[in-house]
Amino acid sequence: MSVKIYSKRLGINYCYVIKAEGCIMIDTGPPQSGKKIEKWLGTIPIDPQEIQLIILTHGHPDHVGCALRIKNFTGARIALHENDRSMFEKGEIAWPSAASTWGHIARYLFRPFALFFRFSGSKVDVIIGDEGLSLEEYGITGKVIHTPGHTPGSVSVLLNTGDAFVGCMTHNRFPFRFKPGLPIFAEDLSKLRDSWRLLLDEGAKTIYPAHGNPFSSEEILKILS
Ligand SMILES: [Zn+2]
Ligand SMILES: [Zn+2]
Repeated sequence: MSVKIYSKRLGINYCYVIKAEGCIMIDTGPPQSGKKIEKWLGTIPIDPQEIQLIILTHGHPDHVGCALRIKNFTGARIALHENDRSMFEKGEIAWPSAASTWGHIARYLFRPFALFFRFSGSKVDVIIGDEGLSLEEYGITGKVIHTPGHTPGSVSVLLNTGDAFVGCMTHNRFPFRFKPGLPIFAEDLSKLRDSWRLLLDEGAKTIYPAHGNPFSSEEILKILS
């Protein structure tokens, strides 16, 4: 069964739809992207109702902003790790900790934009635990792996093909970075490095970040060494 990956840029964010025997979506972009996403779903060769699961890589508003709207549009269930569940269900804007000098500066520069990140919280349908989640029952040969560091509840989706959708385990786009690197925001950089090692051990080959274009896992190996 071939696997098709569709990506959509939403400002500085990317969301993905993966279609194999089944169909899932990864992240839903910032608030106010709903219309754009719905339009895009109408242009790719899937029926939006085929999407059974929306996996949120973590609870930050630029990733979960349209989750409720897209859930209502597609009928899919929302999956998120237990540790980020409360911020999402309460509609809380968690301001991330800086993990680099630029991260410290950006944290203050970006603060006035918090206004644009208000979103409606909603219930998590599939709560992901530390053991992760197999995607077999959703018709996808792959799994969700708990990869904490950026937030305590960050997860990655790893397909058997080696394609890895890692949310904010890396940044590869302005205004964060100009080339692949560790994220400029992280709650725990040492945990994040451990998560990278786990993901690479599990067979991640092509990295799809939530901010930027895909790149080879070799890039991350260089950074970690
Ligand atoms: Zn984030
Ligand atoms: Zn983000």
